[in-house]
Formats: sequence, C-alpha cells, structure tokens
Amino acid sequence: MSKYDVAIIGSGPGGYVAAIRCAQLGMKTAIIEKYSTLGGTCLNVGCIPSKALLDSSHHYEDAIKHFEDHGIEIPGEVKINFKKMIERKQGVVDMTTKGIDFLMDKNKIDVFHGMGSFKDATHIEIDGEKKQTIEATNTIIATGSKPSSLPFITIDKERIITSTEALSLKEIPKHMIVIGGGVIGLELGQVYRRLGAEVSVVEYMDRIIPTMDSAQSKELMKAMKKQGVKFHLSHKVSAVERNNDEITVTATDKKDQEVTFTGDYCLVSVGRRAYTEKLKPENAGVKITERGQVDVNEHLQTNIPNIYAIGDVVRGAMLAHKAEEEGVFVAEVLAGQKPHIDYNLVPGVVYTWPEVASVGKNEEQLKEAGIAYKSGQFPMRALGRSRASGDTDGFVKILSDATTDEVLGVHMVGARVADLIAEAVTAMEFRASAEDIARMSHAHPTYAEAVKEAALAATGDRALHI
Ligand code: FAD
Ligand code: NAD
Repeated sequence: MSKYDVAIIGSGPGGYVAAIRCAQLGMKTAIIEKYSTLGGTCLNVGCIPSKALLDSSHHYEDAIKHFEDHGIEIPGEVKINFKKMIERKQGVVDMTTKGIDFLMDKNKIDVFHGMGSFKDATHIEIDGEKKQTIEATNTIIATGSKPSSLPFITIDKERIITSTEALSLKEIPKHMIVIGGGVIGLELGQVYRRLGAEVSVVEYMDRIIPTMDSAQSKELMKAMKKQGVKFHLSHKVSAVERNNDEITVTATDKKDQEVTFTGDYCLVSVGRRAYTEKLKPENAGVKITERGQVDVNEHLQTNIPNIYAIGDVVRGAMLAHKAEEEGVFVAEVLAGQKPHIDYNLVPGVVYTWPEVASVGKNEEQLKEAGIAYKSGQFPMRALGRSRASGDTDGFVKILSDATTDEVLGVHMVGARVADLIAEAVTAMEFRASAEDIARMSHAHPTYAEAVKEAALAATGDRALHI
C-alpha cells in the first residue's frame, strides 16, 4: 500500500494549490479526483468557462452595439457561431486543466483518478479504474460544492438547468428565466442577453447581489436594465414546470399576487451547497454541520486532528481565491508554520460588465456594527479614461473610519474593477488611511484614478475632477 505524508481529496483550486504547497514544503503528496480532469468546479464548470463566455459575448456586443460609435463599420451582418463559441470555451478549459496536470507532474505529486472515501482516519479508498487504498498521515478534504436548488424544482439538465449546463448549451435560448439574482444568475444571464436572448431575473430579495453594498446592487441593476435584462425583485418562486419545450415559472410578488413567466430555459442559480457525498466522513469520525459543511476550527482542522478541510466544503465565501488561500494555509500549518488568513480582506467580484468588486465592510455592515465612518465616492463618468473607452457606468466608494481614517471597505462598479480591487486589498492589508491612498500618484489616464479621487472625497471635499 502506498503511504503519503498528506492526501488531498478533490482537485479544485483548494485541493490542487494545497497539493503544490505541501510538495514545496517537502511532503510526499497524493491528490485524488473523481473526474478525469483536474481543476474542480472552477476550471471545468465555473470561473474559467464562465469568463470565456463573458469575454466572447462581450466582443459580440461591442461589434453590434459599440463599434459604430468608434467609427468602425462592419459591412454585412455580424453573426454568432454559437457552436464555435462553446468550442472555444472548452478549448480554454482544456488548456487550463492540462496546466494543472503539468503542475502536479512538476511538483512530483501522485494523482489518483477515482472517488475517494474514508476507510478510517488514515486510510482512503479510491474507486477508479481499479479499487485501491492509500495510507495518509494527514488528509485535506477539498471536495467543494454542487449547485443547490429549491425543493419543488426538478433540474432536468435540458431546459431546467444549473450553471453547469448553461455553460454548454447547444442553442441560444429565446427567453431564459433566471431564478436568483446572485453572481451566477447575473454573469450567465448577461452572457445570453448579449447573445440575443430575452432574460428575466426573478429574485427573492428586494435587490440583486444582496450581500454586496446596496449602491452596487442599484448601479449594476441600472446598467443591466439598459442592456435589456428584466428584473423581478421581491418575488418568491413557488413552482417551475416544463411542458415540452416551454417552461413556466410561478412566483408571488410582494403584494402576494401570483405571477407567471414563460420561457424556453430556466437557469436555477440560488446558491451552492457543500459536497461530501460518497466521501464517507463518518468512517473517519469527521463531524459534518447541519448545513452539510465539514466542521472546522480556526486552523481548518476537523474534530479528527489529522484531517483538515478547505474551500467550498467549509464555512465562508465560496470563492476560488478563498479556497486557494486555505490550501496554502493548511499546507503551512502541517509544516509547522504559523500562517494567517484575514477573511475580511478576501475580495468579492462579479464579472458582469460593468464589473463589480468589493473588499472589507460595506455601509450596511458598518451601520449594523455601529462603527462611525466617512464615505467618499467618485463616478467613473468623470474619468478621461472612461470617456475614451466609452465605459462610463459605475463608481468607486471608499469607506473609512470617522476617527482614524483607516480604510474599512472599498466598493466598486465599473470597467476592470475586478483588477482595480487589488489596490484596495493591498492598501487595507497595510492598514492604509484614505489619506494615504489620496496622496499616492495614480497614472493618468487610468480607471485607477477613481480610487485616488474616492479617497480624496473620503478625507473631505477634496476630489479634484468633480
Ligand atoms: P471545487 O472546485 O468544487 O473542487 C472540488 C473537487 O473535488 C471537484 O473536482 C470534485 O470532483 C472533487 N471531489 C468531490 N468529492 C470527491 C471525492 N469523494 N473523491 C474525489 N474527488 C472528489 N469563484 C471565483 O473566485 N471567481 C469566479 O469567477 C467564479 N466563477 C464561478 C462560476 C461558476 C459558474 C461557478 C459554479 C462557480 C464559480 N466560482 C468562482 C466559485 C468557484 O468555482 C469555487 O469557489 C471553487 O471552485 C471552490 O474550490 P474548491 O477547491 O473548494 O472546490
Ligand atoms: P448567490 O448566493 O450568489 O446568489 C443566489 C441568489 O439567489 C441570491 O440573490 C438569493 O437571494 C437568491 N435566491 C435564493 N433563493 C431564492 C428563491 N427561492 N427565489 C429567488 N431567488 C432566490 O449564489 P449563486 O449565484 O448560485 O452562486 C453560487 C456561489 O458560487 C456563490 O457563493 C459565489 O460565491 C460563487 N460564484 C462566484 C463567482 C465569482 O466570484 N464571480 C461567480 C459565480 C459563482
């Protein structure tokens, strides 16, 4: 039987990054993945394919709507080759997952393909092409998450679908009804709206992306409405039925009136749930919470001391970069180091256009915590760079402590804010004040100037270009 210092179950961004760091630190490492490709949800059916389709559909939208403004005329009709678009997306996925094979090889990590399950706290059975058992001194559970649904919905994977199917459709829907105005619903809803589908978002709460700053919800909804997406907020879905190719979604609105939506596809995007099916954690004595997550302490250690868990399968935001940080964290704990993760500084991004990005506390959270704060906001439309590119939607908002001026939260909507948020994370890691950011030189003309201007606004009425 093969023996390892550490075995990792699941090869998503949590698992494969943990494996690399364990190997770097000199541990004999194995990784177990039930699918034939490595990379987990993120690389196969999550972050990477969704961004590939967002980019492709963005190019198309620019060609049909915005090229003309720039004096570019296309003789004849611009057409979508949807099959090719999906094939390109798959090409990007394949290239990326093969990259993980390379990294496993390079770091001398043994890869096992097959379903991993605990026999006991130190033995894992792998049910792949053949059945085999390995012994591991330590194990990291990184089995991720799956889409969740509502009890009365049957996901048929053809017309009543999750994000996984929405990334590989064979045709562009005529009318896609999206249940849930969160990250997946808005990113994929925008892809299909750009490609010509009618898109109706039915959201239970009174705003979209409800966990982000309410100003971001408003700004994104305004921009997406302009793009033609229809929103039905404060709607409680009660039934989803399929009749041949027609889908009917029934909901009650805030006046308790029943409303129905008919379309040809329904995307169910109401969140994801931790995944531990077939893992048999009970054989090792590992505790699972009522919500189905692996229960961990602040060191990401389960109740069984040699078993750890990371990523979507444990508490916290379901984000690839959070899973990666946790993978590095556990590897370093196992090596006897004392790593640290500041969860308050894990940024959240929605890759719609305009993009949405946040780090730290939003206004609602600061009010709830009774923290006195100052707010400085700067609109993208006042930037030369935004006018040059034509991306004038959005703003940067900086919230800083009323007494100390320490930056407590940064919330952005606009072009490329997914990249701009890194400046805010850096500043907050170093506990910068708004004044610190305001006094840093920002290249002109850039979108980043909005960060400086918002910082100037947060320190008093000092914004220069508004
Ligand atoms: P996963 O990536 O889910 O990987 C878990 C792996 O474990 C899987 O490969 C699974 O097959 C394997 N596994 C499970 N059980 C077993 C077992 N018993 N034996 C062997 N293998 C097993 N996050 C972002 O930060 N940015 C984004 O842009 C983004 N976009 C997304 C878009 C979509 C459509 C979706 C669905 C998600 C997106 N996410 C994004 C979220 C991101 O994908 C997850 O947070 C991330 O993949 C979690 O990583 P993980 O390693 O915890 O788990
Ligand atoms: P989400 O939690 O972002 O959004 C779910 C939405 O569905 C919420 O707005 C919620 O209020 C709504 N909802 C819940 N029940 C409902 C009901 N009965 N009727 C109508 N609406 C209802 O979840 P998601 O969009 O499914 O994404 C799942 C996870 O994947 C998220 O946690 C996210 O972190 C991750 N993800 C991240 C990215 C990214 O980082 N860009 C992209 C995609 C997914």
